[in-house]
Amino acid sequence: MSQMSIAVLTSGGDAPGMNAAVRAVVRAALNKDMRIFGVRRGFNGLLNGDIIEIGIRTVSDIIHRGGTILYTARSPEFKTEEGINKAVKTCQQMGIDGIVVIGGDGSFRGARDLSKKGIACVGIPATIDNDIACSDYTIGFDTAVNTAVEMVDKIRDTNQSHNRCSVIEVMGRDCGELALHTGIACGATAIIVPEVPFDIDKDIIDRMMATQRTGKKHFIVIVAEGVGGSADIAKYIEEKTGIETRHTVLGHVQRGGSPSVHDRVMASRMGAYAVDILARGGSNRVVVSKKNEITDYDISEALEMKREFNDDLYKMAHEISV
Ligand code: ADP
Repeated sequence: MSQMSIAVLTSGGDAPGMNAAVRAVVRAALNKDMRIFGVRRGFNGLLNGDIIEIGIRTVSDIIHRGGTILYTARSPEFKTEEGINKAVKTCQQMGIDGIVVIGGDGSFRGARDLSKKGIACVGIPATIDNDIACSDYTIGFDTAVNTAVEMVDKIRDTNQSHNRCSVIEVMGRDCGELALHTGIACGATAIIVPEVPFDIDKDIIDRMMATQRTGKKHFIVIVAEGVGGSADIAKYIEEKTGIETRHTVLGHVQRGGSPSVHDRVMASRMGAYAVDILARGGSNRVVVSKKNEITDYDISEALEMKREFNDDLYKMAHEISV
């Protein structure tokens, strides 16, 4: 049998731990005596041939680095019929039999389209939002939560000194996971997420007043980006309660930094598993974590799944934050 050649790329929004996943894919492939290529800037690299062969030492010294050595991008051209055909042609010319696509839902749609055209693709979920329905966990989430918590802890110190309230916006466009976990870990008075409708008077002001009556003097309110209007929420709180209220948007700090142990371990496990799938001749699969076991699903089925918000955890967070 001729030697198998596979490629790896990172696509869409970046997440800490992508490098650890790239390293795992490369090392696992080389262990199986495959040739391994790195495609740069997501699917763009397949369109313009920005592809390099990777050796065993190319991925040295990256397991602890945020970002992605392969760069990432969004590629509107890839979504067109012409674009996908161009990508397939590049793979055929370079003898690439399969690709590991590290990214989010959008990237998996691209992987599904390539699989349909005969290029075997396996997806690895990596996004700080933990918003992929098929997997309990996505690479980058743990690092992002820890960064957010570190930042909120610092804000809390100065809040305490001045008896202030802080409204802190964390990332998450459609998904409140990052807000929920940050809020629990910081003991926030209120956590506002896109999945749960809220009433500012009942869910924030009344809660603040109730805790104030039992002696609480400084407050943290966590708002997910997708809720919108976090600056207005801060203004309203100050007007209604008379408590000086500051507004902070954590922003891109949440995307960077050295990946946590959990992210490095998950990235390593998922990366090696993805190569196993390709070695067995699998295609159109996505690697997932279910109850801390690594397994895989058909990408098309995985994309149909609906993500469920953990209402019990959300309720518990508010029950103990009084
Ligand atoms: P993420 O993977 O983080 O969800 P995007 O949604 O930006 O990020 O998708 C990354 C890339 O995947 C896009 O730039 C595009 O090249 C490809 N992609 C996204 N959606 C589709 C789609 N419906 N069909 C084919 N390719 C897609």
